[in-house]
Amino acid sequence: MSEVSLPAARPAPFVSLVGAGPGDPGLLTLRAREVLTQADVVLTDALVSPALLAHCPQARVVEVGKRGFLPSAQQEDINDLIVREALAGGGQRVVRLKGGDPFVFGRGGEETLACRAAGVPFEIVPGVSSAVAAAAYAGIPVTHRGLSRSFAVLTGTDRHGPAAYAEIAGVDTLVFLMGVRHLPQITADLIAAGRDPQTPAAAVQWASTPQQRTVRATLGTLAQRAAEAGLGAPAVTVVGAVAALHDDLDWFCPAPLPLQGAQVAVTRTREQTGSELAALLSGRGAQVSEIPLLRFVPASSPRTLAGALSGFDGWVLLTSEQAVRALTQTLLAAGRDLRILARARIAAVGSGTARTLREYGLAPDFVPTRSGSRHLGAELPAAPGEVALHVGSQDVDPVLETALGARGIEYVAAEAYRSELSELTPAQREQLQEAQVVTLASAVGARALAQVAGTSFTAAVIGPQTELAAREAGFTRLILAEQPTLASLSDAVQRACRAG
Ligand code: SAH
Repeated sequence: MSEVSLPAARPAPFVSLVGAGPGDPGLLTLRAREVLTQADVVLTDALVSPALLAHCPQARVVEVGKRGFLPSAQQEDINDLIVREALAGGGQRVVRLKGGDPFVFGRGGEETLACRAAGVPFEIVPGVSSAVAAAAYAGIPVTHRGLSRSFAVLTGTDRHGPAAYAEIAGVDTLVFLMGVRHLPQITADLIAAGRDPQTPAAAVQWASTPQQRTVRATLGTLAQRAAEAGLGAPAVTVVGAVAALHDDLDWFCPAPLPLQGAQVAVTRTREQTGSELAALLSGRGAQVSEIPLLRFVPASSPRTLAGALSGFDGWVLLTSEQAVRALTQTLLAAGRDLRILARARIAAVGSGTARTLREYGLAPDFVPTRSGSRHLGAELPAAPGEVALHVGSQDVDPVLETALGARGIEYVAAEAYRSELSELTPAQREQLQEAQVVTLASAVGARALAQVAGTSFTAAVIGPQTELAAREAGFTRLILAEQPTLASLSDAVQRACRAG
């Protein structure tokens, strides 16, 4: 019997409903980290730590859901969005990332039912629920030999009333999620249902994060103590003898975040890089402002680009997401479309560029192992004498031409869009002036910042090429990232803050 060769696997729709844990990024499970690294799209909630997004730099991140709870119409919108994203473009891997555990007051049941109804396969990756973790971080075991043999987890937003509480009078420990503002009502109802006002009680806010605070009182006094302390959401309330163990077992001394209180300006020349870096830096405690340095306008002559690509059978080089989008639009403006690339081979620099190409239904023929014009120039699998057509803006990085020229490959630049310097608003100028550190993620960015706002900044730079361009533009206080990654650039920001 002869073997049948199957076509390459097509992407299939798949949803992973993932628990992110209560707050500390270290409380993410290994399985959750694995699915994040494979996601095409991550749909995240407000309570989820932005630091977790460092595990999925390749994914598009959409923040859905507001803090607190959602009216049902909005939940339906989220259900629809999950299904739509999973089915988009013939199938995507969607991670729905939710605080704590997705099935503990997370509406994860509704979201998976929506997947089932739409025929979208899914998996559940449980998370560490704040229901037990918040108590644990305040040194309160929800069960304890001799003190508590059972615990119940309740929502604090529904009014259960004394009758409902009387029914669970035999449960030793009560854990309330949400509704910390209803504590006066909840505690009064519990006392009316027969719980002793002297029962130990505690409320834990922002458990496992640097902002964690605990108020320890009795059932009779907790509401007032919490109000006096200004304790608000998100908080977990524990009622029962075990809450007294906090007095002996309180153990968590949150370390201040490394960039707590630091003001950082993230300069942006493209769409994605800025926001990912901003998320990383805010996860480390910084106050971040994003400063767009460039804006994109249509190419001056769409027909020139279409003319250069018509029948072209060499390498087409695409080095940014913007270039991919602009290529499509400029071709349409010239009365052509992406079929013009039928005979060309396509090289894409950066995972974002490759991903954007795939969104347009094109698979790159070559992606260099590392980002940066130098690596593309060195690694492009072209023979001497071949032509490489670089589709980008009018402002091209000469490094690429030099690197290809050294290998005998002919370099031609083709304009798909024009980049112009942004006009900064007065508020953006002020944010720049107040920043202790400014980040520079490209040579283009370094030159643009010098032009729009001068060079009197301490700048953290992503790599040697950016550093060189920044020096040439006139910057003097530069801190270089050890690796060309956003995490390493964030480390450089920390060093710059310490030095300043
Ligand atoms: N699925 C989540 C709960 C979602 S409901 C879980 O399993 O943890 C949101 C509520 O969770 C908040 O109102 C608060 O009561 C609680 N919560 C979540 N994270 C918390 C944290 N870090 N500290 C205290 N309470 C938290």
